[in-house]
Amino acid sequence: MQTHEIRRRFLDHFERHGHTVVPSASLLSDDPTVLFTIAGMAPFKPYFLGEAPPPFPRATSVQKCVRTLDIDNVGHTTRHNTFFQMAGNFSFGDYFKDRAIELAWELITKSQEDGGYGFDPERIWVTVYQDDDEAFELWRRIAGLPEERIQRRGGEDNYWDMGVPGPGGPCSEIYYDRGPAHGAEGGPVADEDRYLEIWNLVFMQDIRGEQSPKYGHPPIGVLPKKNIDTGLGVERVAFLLQGVDNVYETDLVRPVISKAEQLSGRRYGADEGDDVRFRVIADHARSGVMLVGDGVTPGNEARGYVLRRLLRRIVRASRLLGIDQPVLPAFAEVVRDAMGPSYPELVRDFDRIVSVVRTEEETFLTTLTSGSRIFDLAAAETKAAGRGVLSGDKAFQLHDTYGFPIDLTLEMAAEQGLTVDETGFRALMAEQRARAKADAAARKTGRGDVSAYRAVLEQHGPTEFLGYTDLESSSR
Ligand code: ATP
Ligand code: MG
Ligand code: MG
Ligand code: MG
Repeated sequence: MQTHEIRRRFLDHFERHGHTVVPSASLLSDDPTVLFTIAGMAPFKPYFLGEAPPPFPRATSVQKCVRTLDIDNVGHTTRHNTFFQMAGNFSFGDYFKDRAIELAWELITKSQEDGGYGFDPERIWVTVYQDDDEAFELWRRIAGLPEERIQRRGGEDNYWDMGVPGPGGPCSEIYYDRGPAHGAEGGPVADEDRYLEIWNLVFMQDIRGEQSPKYGHPPIGVLPKKNIDTGLGVERVAFLLQGVDNVYETDLVRPVISKAEQLSGRRYGADEGDDVRFRVIADHARSGVMLVGDGVTPGNEARGYVLRRLLRRIVRASRLLGIDQPVLPAFAEVVRDAMGPSYPELVRDFDRIVSVVRTEEETFLTTLTSGSRIFDLAAAETKAAGRGVLSGDKAFQLHDTYGFPIDLTLEMAAEQGLTVDETGFRALMAEQRARAKADAAARKTGRGDVSAYRAVLEQHGPTEFLGYTDLESSSR
């Protein structure tokens, strides 16, 4: 079943059950606590917080999400994308636990001929929050699940809140058993690769105080109106229903791997090291295009930096696959063709999107080769001296002069069995920022304000490396 169809069936199912279909919000969340939209509930947060009356009692959506937290998992686990689509159903003081479980169970187990996903009920496992006997009983009664396939978990895994006093509640997660070829027996508590999490149901029922029930503190009250917030991973369902090995091989991601195979002349599946690179490229190309599509441009701060990191990682991974020509415009085209049917704005805005990624690649390519040489030399020197840590100076030089995001340097160092003096690197970065601030203040007042610079010196002490202070870094 194609990803577009998985999306459509989700929305149809919930629309049929009285939910209003709400289009995806932007990836750029207006929530100041996160850079990007990380879950389907984000646009509905004001209703859950009681800040605005919900215009409908029930809603459903397929929300674009970006989780930078998962970036290091990409290509290594079978299940983590940086960009993915979270399908969700939401109840604002309307139905609660029993109906949420009923609706989820119906969609996943109904046959594909009848519009469901057709998962074998015998292979479904669920988890519930340790104290949530009600959810436990509902899974027994509604789904007929045997007790062994309902596992209890503690607050860290199965209690949800917003990280601040306010609404919270237990969760229940739905897993699919991929079978003995993929790991040990014992359910999701034992193995989250064999047992793949596809859906998380949050039962928002409590008011949490200063301390979270996640860590064993009791809630301070009950919500006057209980809510439902769920998230199903569309790529994960596609992974299972398409009979492939991971989320990167699904219909909307895999075409980029094929393009990279074509450009490199190497074959996916031939070498584990290369395979990770193919998967990283495919995942990041999609995230990169989706982010540019929503208006992010590469830069040195916040969102722009995340985008830069993703794009530069693709460029380097492509080099390692032996591709020595620009790749981003070609990958962007493949992403547009795959994602366009669900996101027509990618097609409409493609000229802009491709020009942003092309420019970023050109900028990086001017320094990638010389930077890599500097890195190799430094790594060799470090090892020859019997040390295991690359200096903060070197990492700063690579960042400042060659445009290597620190994560890239960290990754390259790890490949050589080295670590990086990140503290030293950050001190140099802070110093540079303070200097820029002092310069700006001086330009404004005609007088030097060195207080910020001094504060850094007091905190970190003087650093020795000053060699690149005069070079422009603003273009990277
Ligand atoms: P995991 O434990 O596998 O990292 P999670 O518990 O962090 O997943 P939730 O926050 O519960 O995920 O998000 C709801 C659903 O979104 C998950 O059940 C999963 O299907 C999907 N999902 C979460 N993170 C990703 C990701 N990085 N890539 C693809 N799908 C994801
Ligand atoms: Mg996770
Ligand atoms: Mg999980
Ligand atoms: Mg979860």
